[in-house]
Amino acid sequence: MNKKNYHFSKITRHLDDNEFSFKQEIIDPHCIDWRKKYKGHAGLIVFPKTVDKLSNIVKECSKQNISITPQGGNTSLVGGSVPNKNETGIIINLKNINKIREIDELGFSVIVESGCILEDIQNFIRKKNMIFPISMGSRGSCQIGGNIATNAGGLNVIKYGLLRHNILGLEAVMSNGKIYSNLNNIKKNNTGYDLKQLLIGSEGTLGIITAANIKLFSESKEERVIFASFDSFNDLLDFYRCIINSFNDLITSFEMINNDSMELVIKHNSSLNHFIEKGNYYCLVELSNFINIPDFYDLIINNLSKINVTVNSILVSKSQEENTKLWKYREAIPPSETKEKICIQHDISIPLECMNVFLEKTKQKITKLSNDTHFITFGHLGDNNLHFNILSSEFTNYKRLLKNKKKITEIIYENVSKFKGSFSAEHGIGQLKKSELRKYKSKEEIKQMLSIKHNFDPKNILNPGKIF
Ligand code: FAD
Repeated sequence: MNKKNYHFSKITRHLDDNEFSFKQEIIDPHCIDWRKKYKGHAGLIVFPKTVDKLSNIVKECSKQNISITPQGGNTSLVGGSVPNKNETGIIINLKNINKIREIDELGFSVIVESGCILEDIQNFIRKKNMIFPISMGSRGSCQIGGNIATNAGGLNVIKYGLLRHNILGLEAVMSNGKIYSNLNNIKKNNTGYDLKQLLIGSEGTLGIITAANIKLFSESKEERVIFASFDSFNDLLDFYRCIINSFNDLITSFEMINNDSMELVIKHNSSLNHFIEKGNYYCLVELSNFINIPDFYDLIINNLSKINVTVNSILVSKSQEENTKLWKYREAIPPSETKEKICIQHDISIPLECMNVFLEKTKQKITKLSNDTHFITFGHLGDNNLHFNILSSEFTNYKRLLKNKKKITEIIYENVSKFKGSFSAEHGIGQLKKSELRKYKSKEEIKQMLSIKHNFDPKNILNPGKIF
């Protein structure tokens, strides 16, 4: 539909002056994604302050067939949160629907509105001596609604599972503007199809999430970080097995970092250095003391001394300050990548037992195409998640790499499929991976997904052009 036919005034009449804007200088930054890969367009941006106002806006959009891009913190890495190039619809930014509605300290759950910034929720919950079960590098700007819409993973999946596993109830505005609300905090509720699970991870294509009831966990008394270096990936995997056997439920993160990632971080962060004997691979393990084990540090050292694995070097943090410093080596990887001319990024998952062969075979094939490439491989190893990124800072190689970009991605995804992994581990489909979805999902799966989309959003107004 042509923009001129829209009556945006029927939308804005539901809003105060500071809840919307037609100004391009306000709209434009919301049309560019975090990686600056996609630049879209919108005729209007709205920032409703209540769920009822949001509901009225969506009712109007439904009447006029106006497309809607739901937007949280706009940290999507797949172009999911920005409108398409030729879009004439509206962006609904959720930042003003941002209350922590209720906390149940006995039932260990909290009801939060979708515009709450993840880090703000974490801090609020920590003050109540509890833990919010999700964390990630973008926590200072991503919103819980965006986290739910992408079924976010993050740093603690090995302990708490994905966000999907921790949501007890959900509230959302559906494509006709009606409010679906089931914010119960009961843990058992087998009453037919579970609509909330369809909305979780639907990337704004089935409904606009406005609030959720989310499980909480006991706060740990202290955390310790183990940082170790290894010559080979197999040594690292052996270490992983031993750590699981020795520490089990105390493990809250298990991250892998390869040497190229470490070098990249040190190159771009003057405060970081080679503090541990070099290896081809490193791991960062976070252990949490939930039940106040006395002398937790000594217990860790004692258990580690019994582990019979080839390790180049290993250290255990002695304070919260040291934890923060060690985590920097992991968290600085994505921002360091953005400082390079080109970095071809892939967020994949591979069964652990095949990961080494996958790495070797895929690297071999890519090196034949483009030698002197740097493989930035890191990720949440404890949940099979591998960020498999490729860069080259030399100008000539950078050009060659750019030329081969499509072919490189094909090699990676073909091997992912061969080793029964996933071409999108945690970032979703958005605009970036639509063709892969068609290629690697079965026809029947796509057919069923499309029929769900049609049922929830028959006019295709919710985030059109995303996922499909
Ligand atoms: P947005 O980017 O605004 O939106 C994401 C998608 O959700 C879009 O399709 C949008 O339309 C939709 N959406 C947003 N809000 C709503 C809503 N209220 N209702 C319905 N749909 C909505 N992701 C991980 O999973 N794990 C990580 O460890 C991780 N680390 C990251 C580190 C960095 C430095 C960065 C930049 C990103 C990282 N991400 C990670 C990706 C990103 O932060 C997550 O996908 C996050 O969940 C997106 O939240 P957001 O509020 O920014 O959502």
